[in-house]
Amino acid sequence: MHIPGHLAIALAQHRLPALSTDNNLLKPLLLASLFPDVIDKSLGYGFRVMPNGRHYAHNIFSLLGTTAFVTAVWGKKAGYAWLAGYLGHLLADRNSLVPWLFPLQSYDFKEGRFYFNKSQFLKELLFLLIAIVFYRLAP
Ligand SMILES: [Zn+2]
Repeated sequence: MHIPGHLAIALAQHRLPALSTDNNLLKPLLLASLFPDVIDKSLGYGFRVMPNGRHYAHNIFSLLGTTAFVTAVWGKKAGYAWLAGYLGHLLADRNSLVPWLFPLQSYDFKEGRFYFNKSQFLKELLFLLIAIVFYRLAP
């Protein structure tokens, strides 16, 4: 999934009852929805320190560690929003390999290149626009 799809899911999540009561939770939710790709795609495709774009930040330990950090620094509500956004990202990525238990479990990380599917990107952009409209219309 590309950035627009992840942002659309985070916007939809912000309308869930547990998250919608506080507008301050939108920022950690949106940041967490992009965090795994910002880290792993930068390390994998930018700096080439790993074979692909899903590695250090696409696993349960990174999810829990960053959530604990956000909770300790910004509080429980922000931590909950971070957890929701991050988990939403990982679940949305499950169309291909998500190394959930890395480094405890070994995975066959294939050498990859940045994958950009223009058609998929445009679909996700439309999905994001629809999500923004519904987000704005919701009470
Ligand atoms: Zn991802």
